[in-house]
Amino acid sequence: TLPVVALVGRPNVGKSTLFNVLTRTRDAIVADRPGVTRDRHHGVCRTFSRPFLLVDTGGLSEFEQELPKLAARQAEAAIVEADVVVFVLDARDGLTPYDRQISQALRRAGKRVLLAVNKTDGLDEDIASAEFSELGLGEGLALAASHNRGVTSLGEAIVDAL
Ligand code: GDP
Ligand code: MG
Repeated sequence: TLPVVALVGRPNVGKSTLFNVLTRTRDAIVADRPGVTRDRHHGVCRTFSRPFLLVDTGGLSEFEQELPKLAARQAEAAIVEADVVVFVLDARDGLTPYDRQISQALRRAGKRVLLAVNKTDGLDEDIASAEFSELGLGEGLALAASHNRGVTSLGEAIVDAL
């Protein structure tokens, strides 16, 4: 059985973009509007020294209002089957209250979490990542999924964490 890696994060941070790069498929729906990917999606990443099953946790509707509850539910669903959770954050938006909610749910679950700080294209990577260290989930890995930057380092960190 393949180890399972879940991509978690609020809508529009780039989870599906990262999913597509890692699995090299167009199966995940990537859209300019948040919340378009409504179902969790599975794909296999074979790019690194160990293959793993990647889960793109979509399913968050932009029309839903109860963000804390949703964040917890999404994180819980991913956590149940995940060996490692990749928590995707948006360097352009910075740390939001919703990110903190997801962070708390992840910490409670006690799973191994990697912070992927996405959309760092055009930004200082160190400054962009530093903001998220206050979540207490470790150092953020700077990423620009749509530019295929930092994805190899993230993939290697995932395999190391398995
Ligand atoms: P999801 O809702 O978390 O699955 O996010 P998506 O993968 O659908 O991406 C949301 C938007 O962010 C899309 O317009 C993407 O093209 C854009 N995006 C994703 N990764 C990056 C990135 O590294 N840099 C920039 N500037 N935009 C990105
Ligand atoms: Mg998506």
